[in-house]
Amino acid sequence: MAPEQKKLGYDDTPILPGTKWHVHDGNRPQPPVVTPGTASTQCKPGAAPSDAVILFDGTSLDGWVSKKGGPAQWKIENGYMEVVPGTGNIQTKEHFGSCQLHLEWAAPMIVKGEGQGRGNSGVFLMGLYEIQVLDCYNNPTYPDGTTGAIYGQFPPLVNACRKPGEWQEYDIIWEAPCFDGDKLVRPAFVTVLLNGVVLHHKVELRGVTSHRVLTEYIPHPPVGPLELQDHGDPVRFRNIWYRQLKGYDEG
Ligand code: MG
Repeated sequence: MAPEQKKLGYDDTPILPGTKWHVHDGNRPQPPVVTPGTASTQCKPGAAPSDAVILFDGTSLDGWVSKKGGPAQWKIENGYMEVVPGTGNIQTKEHFGSCQLHLEWAAPMIVKGEGQGRGNSGVFLMGLYEIQVLDCYNNPTYPDGTTGAIYGQFPPLVNACRKPGEWQEYDIIWEAPCFDGDKLVRPAFVTVLLNGVVLHHKVELRGVTSHRVLTEYIPHPPVGPLELQDHGDPVRFRNIWYRQLKGYDEG
């Protein structure tokens, strides 16, 4: 160390177990600087943090494809995308694994249908694991299919829905499962907040999400697309971004 360099910490302290760093080690890498985003309002989406990958900025579906093949055919209007019923689910061209994901959605203002038939869509992590999107404001349905459910596996801890037509925010921390060939080495874990309220806290998934069956894991690559569901209702989405989840000292 050059004599003029300021000593930040200690090198005569014990080594932290499982690391090469001393307690209070001043040589440990500094956490990368990230400029935080800004909060969304009902009128305007907020800004993403500086290290986020923007998946949808309200202007174009260039980063998306239809699951049926070809370009995504949902509508873009006033800074949001809207499901065009019958055009099918859409997926990002970008494939990614463990992440912090942010997205905002709004159920149709005109309330139509009930139960699973009211403002249904879905956020499929890696194209396989659905966090339910549904208008459950005064709309009961089976709990493991309500808004924010890990579909068919875990109901949300609470119902934190805003009124239909209002923008609602998902913040999801996703830990992708790991496979060694056909063998599951580490299951997936997810934490979900809706409108700033915790719905799931590091829940271990039972497998891919599915309808009316007990589920299991199906081996897949370490990265996959984000998929949004066309369930026949004109649900809107805006302000979609993710940050890759990294470990300590990984920069
Ligand atoms: Mg759904």
